[in-house]
Amino acid sequence: MDKMDGSESVRVAVNVRPLVTPAGCSDCISVTPGEPQVQIGAHSFTFDYVYNASSITSSSIFDDCVAPLVDALFHGYNATVLAYGQTGSGKTYMMGTNCNGESTNGIIPKVTQKIFRHVEETKGNTEYLLRVSFIEIYKEEAFDLLESSNTGYSKADWNGKGTGPSRAPIQIRETANGGISLAGVTEAEVTSQEEMASFLLRGSVCRATRSTNMNSQSSRSHAIFTISMEQKRIAGVTSEYDIISAKLHLVDLAGSEQAKKTGADGTLLREGIHINRGLLALGNVISALGDDKKRKEGGHVPYRDSKLTRLLQDSLGGNSKTVMIACVSPADTNAEETLNTLKYANRAR
Ligand code: ADP
Ligand code: MG
Repeated sequence: MDKMDGSESVRVAVNVRPLVTPAGCSDCISVTPGEPQVQIGAHSFTFDYVYNASSITSSSIFDDCVAPLVDALFHGYNATVLAYGQTGSGKTYMMGTNCNGESTNGIIPKVTQKIFRHVEETKGNTEYLLRVSFIEIYKEEAFDLLESSNTGYSKADWNGKGTGPSRAPIQIRETANGGISLAGVTEAEVTSQEEMASFLLRGSVCRATRSTNMNSQSSRSHAIFTISMEQKRIAGVTSEYDIISAKLHLVDLAGSEQAKKTGADGTLLREGIHINRGLLALGNVISALGDDKKRKEGGHVPYRDSKLTRLLQDSLGGNSKTVMIACVSPADTNAEETLNTLKYANRAR
């Protein structure tokens, strides 16, 4: 990602997770060797990158797709990494937003490691202020996963009876200079890799707890881990400083499967619709950003259509860098959703 003008404001990668074979399940996707190309049935798609390595460690996905965004962060660019795909396609595994000890090789732990390595190397002439926040968007409401009183929803909350502090949704506000701020959200200052990792774990545990209390809600919510960085560069003998601020959002999106698959009762359907609203708006925003003609004519980018896109507004498009990683399963039983995911990702290019 050495150069990234408007026409390349969004990069799209596909990650094909390994096949876990329950009886009767076989591979329905093929990757063209040496080409960023996938075939499923009669369909063929080309992306910026395609991976089908057995693990994230043995794949170059971090170096190709994410490391340039970390570099951009140090240069003052906002950036966003989005993991898209159906439930079970490996989004959480990829991002490292799980809490079962599998997370050391995920993208977020690798980002953390890279950031602190750079901080160590440059701390002689630069002061850093690093903060993390971790929020979840569920049914078009944003919740703080790091709030200290937050131990997850209780059953009472779920039934709409609880009104504890952890239930209070966060208000999204636009600042005077077009930035986005989240009123009252926990922004934890971190000074080491270990501290950053501990907040990642804490929020992930909180998300999982809620998920258990609410019957696997996590597949229907978006989780956004945000690293904000302020650098104060000491510019020599004078007492003048250069201040650079930027943030990186690492997003584990809600499962992209259709609502009909998650159940037909009223509540589930409502969740499905809300989630589709976020994913739908995201697809529209990214597609509008990639549409050169529209962009040059100052065309409308529909950020306001969902909480997710409002929240990411100042880190998608414009001067910011975005990578979408479409996660897919190779199993023939998932072929229909896999095709949907590839079509969505294809539209983002
Ligand atoms: P999602 O978040 O998209 O619903 P998960 O990340 O939870 O999917 O993955 C589903 C299951 O598959 C998890 O048990 C996870 O550990 C496993 N898994 C996903 N990707 C891989 C991979 N690349 N290698 C090994 N196991 C994986
Ligand atoms: Mg998940």
